[in-house]
Amino acid sequence: EQDVIDYRKSLAIRVSGFEVPKPVKTFEDCGFAPQIMGAIKKQGYEKPTSIQCQALPVVLSGRDIIGIAKTGSGKTAAFVLPMIVHIMDQPELQKEEGPIGVICAPTRELAHQIYLEAKKFAKAYGIRVSAVYGGMSKLEQFKELKAGCEIVVATPGRLIDMLKMKALAMLRATYLVLDEADRMFDLGFEPQVRSIVGQIRPDRQTLLFSATMPRKVEKLAREILSDPIRVTVGEVG
Ligand code: ADP
Ligand code: MG
Repeated sequence: EQDVIDYRKSLAIRVSGFEVPKPVKTFEDCGFAPQIMGAIKKQGYEKPTSIQCQALPVVLSGRDIIGIAKTGSGKTAAFVLPMIVHIMDQPELQKEEGPIGVICAPTRELAHQIYLEAKKFAKAYGIRVSAVYGGMSKLEQFKELKAGCEIVVATPGRLIDMLKMKALAMLRATYLVLDEADRMFDLGFEPQVRSIVGQIRPDRQTLLFSATMPRKVEKLAREILSDPIRVTVGEVG
């Protein structure tokens, strides 16, 4: 186990895990393709946030991650940017095999925000993003998923509904993100989250983000992540 503690600006950054990749200082350090760099610049993102500096190289290296940082720290781009790279690295497969990236978020508002962020970076590559959450017609959603997509952003309940309706398969899902895991548990989605994880192939890359790590979330992380690196930004202890 290796620990790095950085107390710049009273913001503690703590990283632990086996063979932690070196953090990046700039987006250029990530080796992103010009299309992604263009989209980053278009967003007005000049340099990575603290969590992004630590998380981007970890996720780009294919490792599992537990990212703990408060709201507003830039966690979305920390999983969306490497997801685009991951998808571009996959062989062309049939749309019937389902999405490559699966993101679960606790509420429709959050799922929609992530959907918008993913679309910004996916557009340049023609990567299709579908949002799956309550409040939308199930039939419309079913049709959209049947047409195929590479990324699904979903609330757990509605994703389970769609899986039951066989609107999508999970044969090529290899990049799973659980965003705001603590809130998903607070809202009672633990069984749905566990069911979704159980339907995704075990050779996936798994990313878990949370503002806090209650015991139940810690237990899930231990069960579903393999050899993760833990990045904590904020007050420690
Ligand atoms: P979190 O998921 O940690 O709550 P978000 O991913 O929603 O945070 O990001 C919070 C805000 O910061 C968003 O408006 C987002 O566009 C912006 N943001 C993210 N990364 C950067 C960056 N590197 N530079 C500037 N702004 C950023
Ligand atoms: Mg977030």
